[in-house]
Amino acid sequence: MKERYSRQALFKPIGKTGQKKISESHVMILGCGALGTANAANLARAGVGKLTIIDRDYVERSNLQRQQLFTDKDAENQVPKVIAAKEKLEAVNPEIEVNALILDVTGEELAPYLKDVDLVIDATDNFDIRFVMNDLIHKHKLPWIFGSCVGSTGMSYTILPGETPCLACILDTTTLSGATCDSVGIIAPAVQMVVAHQTAEALKLLVGDVNSLRTKLVMFDLWTNQYQMIKVDRAKKASCPSCGVDPSYPALSYDTRTKTEVLCGRNTVQIRANRHIVLEELASRLEKLGSIHVNKFLLSLHYGDYRVVVFSDGRAFIHGTSSMEEARKIYYQLVG
Ligand SMILES: [Zn+2]
Repeated sequence: MKERYSRQALFKPIGKTGQKKISESHVMILGCGALGTANAANLARAGVGKLTIIDRDYVERSNLQRQQLFTDKDAENQVPKVIAAKEKLEAVNPEIEVNALILDVTGEELAPYLKDVDLVIDATDNFDIRFVMNDLIHKHKLPWIFGSCVGSTGMSYTILPGETPCLACILDTTTLSGATCDSVGIIAPAVQMVVAHQTAEALKLLVGDVNSLRTKLVMFDLWTNQYQMIKVDRAKKASCPSCGVDPSYPALSYDTRTKTEVLCGRNTVQIRANRHIVLEELASRLEKLGSIHVNKFLLSLHYGDYRVVVFSDGRAFIHGTSSMEEARKIYYQLVG
């Protein structure tokens, strides 16, 4: 057994056999923010053979307090999150493969990447994407580990298609607040607590120790010291369109891809456009308008009260507004 994994393999429920299974497995982590980087760091160190990490965003200074793979330099250079994460993960463990995708996930286009994936970890920050994922993993019969956190609170649940209730079933019975990290803030230990639950469940699944899975929804508040384990198996509904007897996967059947979207709590609008942009060309056209930063993946321009970030696939963030109309106007003025 390799020295690198010696302490983990000494742990009886994993052992040498479990370690071998871990090294042969492929985990997809959807989202590369606070939950994503911490899960990825744990699983890379644990020796998961292949990690696919997916995110649409780039590193900003406001991320650094809790998104553990990023550095001040990454924020300064506005490096896409998955690119910055891949570099750190490979430095930690050069024996594993890291597949980094800058991708704005909205639906079925994720399906090809699910091939040979053993499990999916939810590290997204919104329920629209989670419901798309909920349908996708039931359609492809893959386990996934739900996790969310905001403020000092968090929750996690392990979903096994065909056995446990799905996210839609559980959330029907649990109240969802509209709070996000960008509206009420977040402390790093809330992230780490959710990640501890997610990574532990991932390791159990990867070594095949299904009897040790938690089976209950865990909820906590680290500030007010509340811990709850909620039995949710009776929430599973036979009529559920995602996990029931005759699924229609509603989140996949309509196009969730809106062209323009206000990013909740961030005073930012995202614009999607299916076009290829040569960033250097655009930069030379825009450089007289304001201070500009270009890297291999994106261009960022300070333009009056706004900051406009354009990716090479035509997608853009307009920071400094929550008005879709205003954002679209700026996009067409600058990008054309
Ligand atoms: Zn369901």
